[in-house]
Amino acid sequence: MLSQCIFSVETPVGPPVEIIRHTFASNLPKPVKRVSLVAGLHGDELEGLYICHRLIETLKNLEEQNAFKGEVHIYPAVNPQALETGTRLWPFFSVDINRTFGQTNTPSLPSEISKILLEDLKSNSDLAVDIHSSNLHLMELPQIRIIKDFEKKLVPLAKFCNVDLIWVHPHAEIFESTLGYSLNQAKIPTLVIETGICLRINKNYCEQIVLGILNLLQQTGTLDGDEPLANVTPPKVVQPGYVTMIQAKNAGLFVKQTEVGQIVTEGEKIGDLIDPVEGKVLEEIRSPCSGLLFTLREHPLTSKGAPLARIATEEPA
Ligand SMILES: [Zn+2]
Repeated sequence: MLSQCIFSVETPVGPPVEIIRHTFASNLPKPVKRVSLVAGLHGDELEGLYICHRLIETLKNLEEQNAFKGEVHIYPAVNPQALETGTRLWPFFSVDINRTFGQTNTPSLPSEISKILLEDLKSNSDLAVDIHSSNLHLMELPQIRIIKDFEKKLVPLAKFCNVDLIWVHPHAEIFESTLGYSLNQAKIPTLVIETGICLRINKNYCEQIVLGILNLLQQTGTLDGDEPLANVTPPKVVQPGYVTMIQAKNAGLFVKQTEVGQIVTEGEKIGDLIDPVEGKVLEEIRSPCSGLLFTLREHPLTSKGAPLARIATEEPA
């Protein structure tokens, strides 16, 4: 494994901030495929870092066995300053770096970094995976979200990744400044993984995705081997219109009664929304449909209209 610093910037009083890329080189003169894995764009999403850590361990062993027919690049912590403080945004500038890609008119440090990262990925990748966690409010089952325009190219690749769900959703303008969109627009197929919850590490979900990425690397010919590196389970592919969201009708505390990954039936209880001060149950939250519960509110504090759960349905929602 070769480690390179792709960006370094001085800080007011401490050591410089650096973005590191680890490379596992191909045994062949021309790599079969060049695959890049990116984590930590949002500094409060730690599961991607753990996934990269586990992959680096495994890939180091495979490197000793000369298993690389392709090339793998790992960028485990691309927003180091936000990661230091465990915040989503790049501190000081309070900028979401994943809303600065593809923009040319904002000369700030975060947008300079996104430009360098995007160029580095473009010149080193035929395929990329960008790993995210959810926010502090919602627990997400391991999933890949795909904008409808890129469905044809991405769904077959996403099926290798051992996620529970592939959610194909319509395009929205907000995606245009993300890393995933910019790379897909540049004809580098890029899968955006969303798993777990921020500021925590769900080891089981991370291990599930590690196996999925190893399988992706093998299926694309990047890693050699007659024996499968991982046995993966095919995901549920969900088209737009097949996702039902449950929102709170009141403000209160949400107390869940189930977990993500459950198949719920119509009318099944998901939790209670309570008024803890008055000792009242404001709402019994029940599923309006049958399907796979793939998002569930983890943070109890709930405002009126806040999302409580998402269910992938068999019938159009
Ligand atoms: Zn994120």
